Amino acid sequence: MNVGALTKKVLQAALFYEIWDAMKVTFQHMFHRPITFQYPREQRTIPDAHRGALGLLRYDDGHERCVGCDLCEAACPSRCIKVISAEDPSRPLQRYATEFYIDITKCVFCGYCVEACPVNALAMTKMYEFSTHDKRTLLFDKKRLYDIGERHLDDAKKYLYAHNQEKNVEESREYRYYFPQSVLKSTQSPPKHLS
Ligand code: SF4
Ligand code: SF4
Repeated sequence: MNVGALTKKVLQAALFYEIWDAMKVTFQHMFHRPITFQYPREQRTIPDAHRGALGLLRYDDGHERCVGCDLCEAACPSRCIKVISAEDPSRPLQRYATEFYIDITKCVFCGYCVEACPVNALAMTKMYEFSTHDKRTLLFDKKRLYDIGERHLDDAKKYLYAHNQEKNVEESREYRYYFPQSVLKSTQSPPKHLS
């Protein structure tokens, strides 16, 4: 080691150069605006297309939209939806879901069930705070799903709009989930871009 380098090293050691060098980064950050969110006191703005908890929706007159057709159950890749349906005795030929379950612990929030629903009875909301110590409470039943749908109705509508499902019928058709050809029913024709 030459004399210059040795002198530099001694001076750096005497003046605690490494400490000042590290403090420089600390001082720089003292004058920056913090970017950390103080959750849960501060909440982020969630975009309309966000895929949060699922909810079931009603029509404006209070009737349940769901007709118990099972399409959401068939479209779900996680097999976490169970629908049990029956004929509605008060409305001939009309079916409804007597029971509806979504095991949200298995849900991958893909949104296929929402796309598959022909009557927009299912929608995703901006609700994401449902952590719990009891996993059994994460099996959402029909009542809970309708409660979520009711409490987050505006967000659910925004979700459907953001995913092109509550625009005009033809436009929405292009964005719907289509079952693989092998299980495609003759009543369901694929959209132009898939045929
Ligand atoms: S979002 Fe996807 S995984 Fe979750 S219930 Fe719907 S289809 Fe199944
Ligand atoms: S939510 Fe939609 S797709 Fe699922 S059973 Fe009800 S009507 Fe059918």
